[in-house]
Amino acid sequence: MSIGSFGRNTSKLKALLGIRARLVLLALILVVPLMVDRVRVLENTRAKQVEQAVTGLSELARHTADSQREIISTVQAVLKSSAYIYAAASQQNRGCAIMRASLRVDLPWIRSLSVLGPEGKIQCSTTPSIVGLDLSDREYFKHALEFHEFVLSDYVFSRATNLPTIIASYPVSAIDGGPEAVIIAAVDLKWMSQLLSDRINRAGVSVFLVDSAGVILAARPEHQSLIGQPLKDTSLLEAVAHREINLERESGSIAFESADGERKAVSFARLTGTKARLIVSIDESRMLGDIDRDIRTAYVQLGLVGLLALLGAWIAGERLIIRPVRALTDTANRFGRGDLSVRASNAGMPHEFAPLARAFNMMASQLAEREREMVAANDRLTVIASIDMVSGLANRRGLQSRLEFEWMKALQTETGLSLMMIDVDHFKQFNDTYGHPEGDVCLSRIGETLAAIASETSGFAARYGGEEFCLLVPNSDAANAMLIGERIRAQVERLAIPHSMSTAKVITVSVGVAAISPSEAQPQDDLIEAADAALYAAKRRGRNTVIEHALIRATDQSISLAS
Ligand code: GH3
Ligand code: MG
Ligand code: MG
Repeated sequence: MSIGSFGRNTSKLKALLGIRARLVLLALILVVPLMVDRVRVLENTRAKQVEQAVTGLSELARHTADSQREIISTVQAVLKSSAYIYAAASQQNRGCAIMRASLRVDLPWIRSLSVLGPEGKIQCSTTPSIVGLDLSDREYFKHALEFHEFVLSDYVFSRATNLPTIIASYPVSAIDGGPEAVIIAAVDLKWMSQLLSDRINRAGVSVFLVDSAGVILAARPEHQSLIGQPLKDTSLLEAVAHREINLERESGSIAFESADGERKAVSFARLTGTKARLIVSIDESRMLGDIDRDIRTAYVQLGLVGLLALLGAWIAGERLIIRPVRALTDTANRFGRGDLSVRASNAGMPHEFAPLARAFNMMASQLAEREREMVAANDRLTVIASIDMVSGLANRRGLQSRLEFEWMKALQTETGLSLMMIDVDHFKQFNDTYGHPEGDVCLSRIGETLAAIASETSGFAARYGGEEFCLLVPNSDAANAMLIGERIRAQVERLAIPHSMSTAKVITVSVGVAAISPSEAQPQDDLIEAADAALYAAKRRGRNTVIEHALIRATDQSISLAS
């Protein structure tokens, strides 16, 4: 990807993602590595805990095997001492007699103690009824005779009691000078099972004592029915029977999946000095239950922390950035709509926004000040635009707006309104004779005269255009208007501005007078037109004259003028 297209893609991404989304993304970038690390630690912890559990299980197997071994050891000790006694007694040909007299088997796990002769028949026994029983075909007998060592049999049914048992045998020939005889003891398997239950009472843990052929010798009460069955027939421990026991290992652990898919952790340990083994197993799900629960809780906590971080980023974005920006934007919009009094408040905003709010408020005050100045300048311009600079009076526009105002007032107060239209006689000739500047001076003096009369009559004087003037007098009827018109004419004549070309030899004016009582239906222009018409009449009548125009009120919506 080129640098250019990367830049474009980044800006597209920026356009797509709002500031909050970007903060959340940032939080993710910060949080994810921490979370990944935490997950790794958790998984390590889990692996360690599993390892510890497996070690614990195999220790349990070993300890239990040791405790079982104690039974066997005491049996061995009993057999050995019996062998000594028998050997010593047999020298006096009183072996059995002494045996019967001296041997008291107080151990609860030894059911009977017997002496087998070299031919394999029971010569004497703590259970007298079995004397004479032929056990010559039993492996333990043959082995003891042949190898002169202690032997623990596999699972057998006692010929004497027809009960399942294991037989411990010790050859008397192992003792120097001893005769060819074998001391045997039948071990009570129930006692061994009882011992197992006493040692291991953890829920979910199965424990079996098996012989060298894999036949179960002892188990906890719930598995009592399995005693006497070959281990390989129980799918549960098939793998142990086939794989590990055959390898002749003393102890070990394996993971095993049963036919029904249940995973089990299995530990086994040999009972030292025998071929019997103790096998302890536990459902992996059960063993891992607590660990997994802890790990799950840790994951949930991790998820919550992550969620809180994202939520925090979102809320922080909203509160620290979006809200202040929105508030400033709202203020700017209100300001833009003309509410010049609005100011940005920095209450509740992060202090970083305070300079922006201050700058905005300063700009707003300056703009408001400019606006006020502009309004004032506009007002001044409006006034200037309504004033005639030569006469110093209002101009035509000024007259127009004043006429509107006085018209409205007259309508409301139902009073009369008069207008005098004044035109300088033969002014062109004046200009021609005395020059334009002199003409301006003349117009200015007439303006002053009219201004004085306007202030005396509460009227409004204006220069209508060229050498034409107007005087608008409110609250005035036609008679009063005629008097004022005459006053204007006379005062201008009295100014005695020389005009050699006119008949009067001084500047004079012609005045057209119109008076009206305004009505809603009547246009304002009627008053101007009437005054203008009267002025025209005055000119025709020879100038330096005042003529009144009679206005006929509008009737039936028709308005007409007559002179
Ligand atoms: P009448 O008696 O019929 O009114 O004749 P008049 O010469 O006054 O009228 P006319 O309309 O023929 O001429 C008006 C003259 O007023 C023409 C023009 O030069 C002059 N005038 C208009 N405005 C001004 C101004 O501002 N200054 C000067 N000096 N002269 C002006
Ligand atoms: Mg004129
Ligand atoms: Mg004129």
